[in-house]
Amino acid sequence: MTPGEPVRRGRRLVLKMSGEALASSASDEAIDAVVVERLAGDIAAVCHELEPELAIMVGGGNIWRGTTGEGQGIDRATSDTMGMLGTVINALALQDAIERLGQPTRVLTAIHMAEVAEPYIRRRAIRHLEKGRVVIFAAGMGNPYFTTDTSAALRAAEIEAEMLLKGTHSGVDGVYSADPKLDSTAVRFDEVTFMDVVNRDLRVMDLTAITFCKDNKLPILVFDLMAPGAVRRALAGDEIGTLIR
Ligand code: UDP
Repeated sequence: MTPGEPVRRGRRLVLKMSGEALASSASDEAIDAVVVERLAGDIAAVCHELEPELAIMVGGGNIWRGTTGEGQGIDRATSDTMGMLGTVINALALQDAIERLGQPTRVLTAIHMAEVAEPYIRRRAIRHLEKGRVVIFAAGMGNPYFTTDTSAALRAAEIEAEMLLKGTHSGVDGVYSADPKLDSTAVRFDEVTFMDVVNRDLRVMDLTAITFCKDNKLPILVFDLMAPGAVRRALAGDEIGTLIR
C-alpha cells in the first residue's frame, strides 16, 4: 500500500500512539479525558467508515519512562516494568472512551493481569481483529529494555499487519531532513528508505524498531496523530506524512 492508493476495507494496521498523546499542556493530569475522547472519536469514526482491522499499541511516556527511574537510582528492569504498567492505564482509558462510542475493543496485555484484561495471545488478537474489534496492546512486549515503538513493530509483524502507523503528538507531521523545530530549512520527505533513516540519523522511532521493520519489510507511515482528520487519512491510505520502506 502506498499513500494515494484507493481505500480497501479490512486492511490490517497497527497504530502506535505515544502515551503523551493522551495528555495535554492545558492540564496537569497524566491523562486528559478531553484529548482521549477526541482521539477515540477519530478512531471510532474511521472504524465505522472504513472497517479496518485496527490494533493500537499505546505507550506510557505520560506516566513513566524506564530511563526516568534509572536516573533516580531505580533498578532499570524495575523501572521499565513500571513504564509497562503505565501503558495499561492508558490502554484502559482509551478502551473506555472508544467503547462509549459503540466501537467494541479488547485490551490484550503482555504482562498477565487476568482480572483487568486478556493476556496477549497472537491467534486471539487476530480473531478479535477479524471480528471487527479494535485491539489495544498494553504493557508493550512485556520485556524491560524495550520501547512501545519496538513492541508495535513486533506485534505488527506477528499479526501480519500491512503497515505500522506511527502517530506523532509533537506537531511534527512526518520525517524531516533536520529537526523542523530547530532548523527552518528542514524539509519533509514524502518517502524515505529505512537506510536513509539509519544513515542520516533521522530520529523518528528508536533504532531497534526501525531495523526490525527493515528486516521484516514492514513499512512505517509517520504522521501527525493530533492533526484534524489525520487518523482517517492515515488509515485510508491518503497522501499524508512520510512513508518509510
Ligand atoms: N517498556 C518496556 N518494555 C516494553 C515497552 C515499554 O520496558 O516492551 C517501558 C519502558 O520503560 C518505556 C515505558 O515502558 O520507557 C513507556 O513506554 P514508551 O516510552 O515506549 O512510551 P511512549 O514514549 O510511546 O509514550
